[in-house]
Amino acid sequence: MVTAANEAQRAAWRSGGFPEVERVRPGLWSIPVPIPINPLRYVLVYALELPDGVAIVDAGWDTDEAYGALAAGLGTAGYEVTDVKAVLVTHIHPDHYGLAGRIREVSGAWIGLHPADSRLLRDRYDEAGIDDLVARERLLLVRSGVPSSLLDELAGASMMLRHYVTMARPDRLIEDGDLLGLPGWDLRAVWTPGHSPGHVCFVEQERRLLFSGDHVLPRITPIVAVHPQSAPNPLADYLEALAAVRKFDVDEVLPAHEYRFLELADRVDHVIAHHEERLAEIEAVVGAGDGVTCWDAATGLRWARPWETIPPFMRRGANNETLAHLVWLEARGRLRRVAGEPDLWFPA
Ligand SMILES: [Zn+2]
Ligand SMILES: [Zn+2]
Repeated sequence: MVTAANEAQRAAWRSGGFPEVERVRPGLWSIPVPIPINPLRYVLVYALELPDGVAIVDAGWDTDEAYGALAAGLGTAGYEVTDVKAVLVTHIHPDHYGLAGRIREVSGAWIGLHPADSRLLRDRYDEAGIDDLVARERLLLVRSGVPSSLLDELAGASMMLRHYVTMARPDRLIEDGDLLGLPGWDLRAVWTPGHSPGHVCFVEQERRLLFSGDHVLPRITPIVAVHPQSAPNPLADYLEALAAVRKFDVDEVLPAHEYRFLELADRVDHVIAHHEERLAEIEAVVGAGDGVTCWDAATGLRWARPWETIPPFMRRGANNETLAHLVWLEARGRLRRVAGEPDLWFPA
C-alpha cells in the first residue's frame, strides 16, 4: 500500500467522485479530465507553467465534455487552451492522446510522442488501416482458441474507441533520454514500453517528480497484452521498464489515473510481485492440463470479477493479457507452445 500525496485526491477516487483541480507545486497543476465509458473515470492532465504559457502532460479523450473540463482546469490555473505550447503524450491510448490534435488546432502547440507509438497511428486510427488490424486481431483470437461464436464480437470490440480520437501526427518524436527543453523545467523522457510500445514517463530531477502515465499507478496495474500492435514479448519489456524507473530517487509520483503517491520503489516492487504471482498461476493452469489454449487458461484464472460477468471487450483484454504471460514463460523456457489454430500450451 502506497501513501497518497494528497488524501483528498485519494478520497475522491475511492468514493467514485472527481478530484479537484489542484496546484501540486508552484507552477504545476493537476487537472482531472473525464473519460467516457471507462471505470477509470478521469485522466489526470498535468499543466506545467512556462514563461509564455503552459505545457501539458497528456490531454484526455476527444469529447466536448473533456475539452470543457480541460479548458476550465486551465482557467483555474490562470490560462486558456490557446496558451498551451506543448502536449507531451505518454502514450497512444485515447484517454491520453485523443484530445491532442484538437488542442493543437486551437493553440498551435506542438505534440510530442515516442516513435514506437507514432508508428501505430495509421493502423489504429485511420480508416485505411482498420480492416487489416481487425483481421490480425481475429487471427490472434483464433490462435488463442476463442470460441467461433465470440470471434466477431471480440475482434471488433475496440473499434468504437476510435470515435474519441482526433487523428493527429506528432510534431516531435520523443526518444528515451531526451531532454524536453521546456524553460524552467528539468524534464527528461524515459522510454517505458510494455503497456504500449512507445510509452514514456517524464522525470523532473530538480523537483524530484516522476510523471508516470499509465506505467506505474498507485492501486491498479496497467494492462500488458499481446495484440497486433504490441511488441512480441511486451511483458518482458514492461518488467524491464519497471526496473528502469525504480532507480529514480523522486519524492512523488504523478500518474495519469487514480491519485498521486509517494513510494515509487515500493509500488514497483509490488507490481513486479503481482506479475510473478500471475506467471506462477498461469504456469500451474497449463501444468494441470494436457495442451491448454490461451483462452482456456484465461477462463481458468482468478479475475477481479466472475468470468461470465466480464464484458466482451474486457474478455479480449484478459485473453491477450494471459497471452503476454504465456509468451513470457515460453521465452524463459518454462512453457512450450505447439503452434496451430489454436496454439496449444504445455509445460516445458
Ligand atoms: Zn493506457
Ligand atoms: Zn490511461
